[in-house]
Amino acid sequence: MPTYTAPIQDMNFVLHEVLKVSESNIPGYDELESDLTNAVLEEAGKIASDVLAPLNAVGDTEGCRLENGVVYTPTGFKEAFEQLKEGGWTALDCDPEYGGQGMPYILGTAVGEIFVSSNMAFNMYAGLTHGAYSAIHAHGTDEQKQTYLPKMVSCDWTGTMNLTEPHCGTDLGLMRTKAEPQDDGSYKITGQKIFISAGDHDMSENIIHLVLAKIPGGPEGVKGISLFIVPKFIVNEDGSLGDRNSLSVGKIEEKMGIHGNSTCVMDYDGATGYLLGDMHKGMRAMFTMMNEARLGVGLQGYAQAAVAYENALAYAKDRLQGRDVTGTKNPDGPADPLIVHPDIRRNLMDQKSFVEGARAFVLWGSSLIDQGHKLNDKDAEGLVSLMIPVIKGFLTDKGFENAVNAQQVYGGHGYIEEWGMSQFARDARITMIYEGANGVQALDLVGRKLATDGGKHVMAFFEMVKAFLKENAEHPALKDDFIPQLKQASKDLQAAGMFFMQNGMKNPNDALSGSYDFMHMFGHVCLGLMWARMAKAAHDALEGGASNKEFYTAKIATGRYYMARQLPATRLHLARIETGGAPVMALDAEEF
Ligand SMILES: Cc1cc2nc3c(=O)[nH]c(=O)nc-3n(C[C@H](O)[C@H](O)[C@H](O)COP(=O)(O)OP(=O)(O)OC[C@H]3O[C@@H](n4cnc5c(N)ncnc54)[C@H](O)[C@@H]3O)c2cc1C
Repeated sequence: MPTYTAPIQDMNFVLHEVLKVSESNIPGYDELESDLTNAVLEEAGKIASDVLAPLNAVGDTEGCRLENGVVYTPTGFKEAFEQLKEGGWTALDCDPEYGGQGMPYILGTAVGEIFVSSNMAFNMYAGLTHGAYSAIHAHGTDEQKQTYLPKMVSCDWTGTMNLTEPHCGTDLGLMRTKAEPQDDGSYKITGQKIFISAGDHDMSENIIHLVLAKIPGGPEGVKGISLFIVPKFIVNEDGSLGDRNSLSVGKIEEKMGIHGNSTCVMDYDGATGYLLGDMHKGMRAMFTMMNEARLGVGLQGYAQAAVAYENALAYAKDRLQGRDVTGTKNPDGPADPLIVHPDIRRNLMDQKSFVEGARAFVLWGSSLIDQGHKLNDKDAEGLVSLMIPVIKGFLTDKGFENAVNAQQVYGGHGYIEEWGMSQFARDARITMIYEGANGVQALDLVGRKLATDGGKHVMAFFEMVKAFLKENAEHPALKDDFIPQLKQASKDLQAAGMFFMQNGMKNPNDALSGSYDFMHMFGHVCLGLMWARMAKAAHDALEGGASNKEFYTAKIATGRYYMARQLPATRLHLARIETGGAPVMALDAEEF
């Protein structure tokens, strides 16, 4: 069975040597000294290895069950959830006013990777609660905040997000769930939501559903959608739990992965709901948490690849098969370990270079979110908003691809459930779909984000890359193996942007047919930039006489691999983009 050890050294490297968090002027970052981050990550790592990882396969094989209207989670989940709560893990980056610990979001992100790698389905219960917490925190009245937030911070009450309906997922303007105003200021919510993660379960006293619905007589389409708090149990004025609300679980979905998370059909039958934020501005309220939610899904993608890689590496060192063509490495054994073979090395290097690059990218993105929130820095907010579809789309596509690559290292054993590698691939697969399918992320990037604020943020991104290239043009560790490659990839990305500008207005299909390639190109450039920054930090550490030389030399070599063997993908993506829409749209629907 797979095991999990948190990549604490690598996380600390990114936090302290690449991003240099404790030197930052972002409020709260001065507390992030390496002693503190190390202690927090080590504690999280212990729970992950000892409690959550062993439950991962249990969740997968048992799944959740619905009995007499009650959803039961897999064996051990409830106890583990209590442990998470008691340790204060659910409150890490929440507002101290409501019982949170007030740590920066970036630390929550690093801990999040550890928990998601060890057990993604389990971590979703707390993850969704955090999403609902953020929405109420941003849009709730004082009374709503006092009523719900302290219990959600502690996860005594959990949360859900209810957007999807049977006939609409992407196109929420088609939504049918309705919210009828009542004399007491509440609403009666009626309709069916499907695919609701953590929709019901036995781990919390109450579940606070955030539900999108339309108030009759409001504007058509997405402009008529409002957001409602719909608790499973109505909360009395003194904070105690009152009547059961008129909502129920229709069924639990059978699905490809994340079996430990209950994906529910939720039926609202005149349920009591309370408006959250402004009437008809529900989409806007949902979108305020979009950056964090989508970054969280991007993290899920690479976190599955990370744990899959960790196990594939151990297997490649252990499994004896064939001989090294350049000379036997294990003369006393019947064969050499898999890791001697170049094709296995290629596979492992693809995984390693992706996972470590993705980790740096997501932590950097989190620091921009902190910068936006805590310094009210609109440029940081704009930059991270631009990159969010890339973080979500690219990291989940590649996360799944690399979870499959890890499975491949095991040969047939990777396909057999007993080894646990198939679960990583199956669990990772959903990340490409929910929170906006990846095709829609690409659409958001090219159709909306590139042009936001007159293209200011994409220009700022290119300026930042240009400044890095200029500043490090003669850097001994970068000048040959990082700078020219990053320059070329960035040029390709700019050329693609130019192609869209010149052709997309005349024919939007010329831009949208290349949007997926553009999202991947952008992802490669971001990871290329991260690798160049990491190589620079590793070089500095070696120059400074760092004791653990192997870590830093491996870092530079892995970066070189990415720049040489992954980053040139931008060339192919550009070539595809420059064909425009014609080849993509060549057939009539009937001709397929
Ligand atoms: C396990 C699981 C958990 C989930 N959890 C939740 C949850 O907690 N809460 C919740 O509300 N929802 C949840 N969802 C729903 C999920 O977010 C939706 O399935 C997803 O947004 C896609 O919607 P859809 O399935 O209706 O697909 P559709 O919207 O029908 O899209 C189908 C395909 O068409 C593409 N497409 C659609 N429109 C366009 C367009 N304009 N241009 C280009 N391509 C387009 C999409 O990319 C997709 O590939 C969950 C789903 C699953 C499977």
